[in-house]
Formats: sequence, C-alpha cells, structure tokens
Amino acid sequence: MSRPVIAVHGGAGTISRALLTEHQEEEYRLGLRRPLEVGRDLLRSGADALEVACRVVEMLEDNPLFNAGRGSVFTHHGGHEMDASVMRGEDRAAGAIAGVTGVRNPVRLALGVLQESDHVLLSGRGAEEFARTIGIEFEGPDYFHTDLRRAQLDQAIEKGRVQLDHTPSEDEKFGTVGAVVCDADGNLAAATSTGGMTNKKYGRIGDSPLIGSGTWADNRTCAVSCTGHGEYFMRSAAAYDLAALMEYGGRSLVNAARFLVEEKLRAFGAEGGLVAVDAEGNVALPFNSPGMYRGYIRDGQAEVAIFTAEEGEGF
Ligand code: ASP
Repeated sequence: MSRPVIAVHGGAGTISRALLTEHQEEEYRLGLRRPLEVGRDLLRSGADALEVACRVVEMLEDNPLFNAGRGSVFTHHGGHEMDASVMRGEDRAAGAIAGVTGVRNPVRLALGVLQESDHVLLSGRGAEEFARTIGIEFEGPDYFHTDLRRAQLDQAIEKGRVQLDHTPSEDEKFGTVGAVVCDADGNLAAATSTGGMTNKKYGRIGDSPLIGSGTWADNRTCAVSCTGHGEYFMRSAAAYDLAALMEYGGRSLVNAARFLVEEKLRAFGAEGGLVAVDAEGNVALPFNSPGMYRGYIRDGQAEVAIFTAEEGEGF
C-alpha cells in the first residue's frame, strides 16, 4: 500500500529572505499551500495521479507570482512562449508542448497531447492549432501582462542578457512550476510548466517540455519535475538520470535525488533543483541554489518552504 503524496515546486534560484518582504513571502507560501490542499482533496475523492498533478500545476499557472501560464516571463519581442509537459508513470505515456502563445493553461494542452494525439511533443503554431481542435482555452496578451515581468524584460534588454526567473539582479533567475504525485494505488505522475527565460529569442526551448530532462514518471522508480538552468538540465538528462540512479544504481529516491542535485548537477554547473516521489510515497525536494519554492502534502497539512534549512520533515 502506498502513502499518497503530492510535491510541488515554484522555481529555484537566488531566493533569500533579504529579497522578499514578509507579505511577499506569505503570498508565495499560500500560493504553494492552496494547490497542495486542493490536490490532497482530489486524491481523497479518488482522482488519479495524472489528473491531480495537472490540476495542481494549473493552479500554479493561474497565480501570477510564478513563471508559468499567467505569470510567464516576456520574450525578447514582448510576447510569451510557454512550455509544458506531463507524464504518467503507469505506462510512461507523455504529452508536451513548446513555444505556445495565448494558451491559458499550457499543462492542460500537454495533457491533451497525451490523451488525444498520437504524438508526444507539439510546438508553436501547430500546437496552438491542435489546442483549438480540442477546445483548449485561449487568452489575449493582457491576461499574461504583469508590470513586474515587463520591468524584468526592460532590465534584461538593457543589460543584453537572457534571464532566468527569481532573482532581482542579472543572472541565475529560475522559475517554473511542477508537481509530482503518488496516488493510493502507487501510480505516479509528473507535470511541469514554464514561461522559460526573460528576453529569450529565436524560439528558445528549455528542459521543461522535454521528457527525460525536465519531467519523468515511471511507477518502477519515480516521478520528477525539475527547475533550473534548462540548458544544463537538458545536457544532463536530469529527470531521467534520477530514475536511472534508482533503477541501475540501486539507490533510494532520497539518496539518488540528493546525489544528483547536490553532487552531479552542481559539479556540472547546473543550478536548480527538483521535486520527486516514488511509488511508496517517499518524497525528495533537493536543490543546489540559494532557495526553491517547494512543498508537499500527505494526509494532513501541507509543508511548504522557500529558503535553505527550513524547519520541517524533508527540508
Ligand atoms: N528550466 C526552465 C527553463 O530553462 C526555467 C526554470 O526552471 O526556471 O526554461
């Protein structure tokens, strides 16, 4: 019998107490806590792991604090190009979309690719065309406009940089949302969604929509969602590497996740983190950056954390 569990992240990066007001900190904690509680109630009512992972990510996409869906960062041309992926651990079915504009909840479209297409990854115009055929909701540019993101773009253009999210200054800004779920049957699922990097050009795609890099789920090992500098996570096949460390290396989830993030990825220069669960309901939330918005829930209360070394089991 599995212990059902949900873990989430809202991005990793240079996140420190000095950079957040108490009010902002509370908003972020609430922004993590609510989706976890909704997910827990869904699990109790019998929803499966994949549906729960998607619903949780959808709520994070609707919150402008996070770099996904509504709060997506701006591209160089002042638009939004979003990436998302989902994976089901039972049969390794997967769906992903990259570089889409105007889609209210990219994770829903990724789920649509899994459920209603013969493909795994759709991009750009084609993905948007597919979205219309399955009734996915679209929004105009105003919906995705936040003054904070616009200011970040102006700053990035001025400095001539491409920026990840979650830091007030130039580099090391990571932002993405993700959820991993183990349901009562021991079925696993993972979902990841992002606006990518501020000031990105040329149709840049990160690790988030790439199965095996930003997202992975296999009931035999783990479900994982990553956040961090996508180029390095792609070159590490990071999400799949966690499963491989378990399957071929015989490591436990927690041991494998810590080794991957704190040693392997760190040594490679891949700053960021991940959330992962296994089919017994164990959970790991390691990161090698100064902070990561993260949390998990079992039966009772949600545990959420932002900074390093916070109180609470698993942090
Ligand atoms: N991994 C994402 C990307 O490179 C960004 C992030 O996690 O913040 O697009």
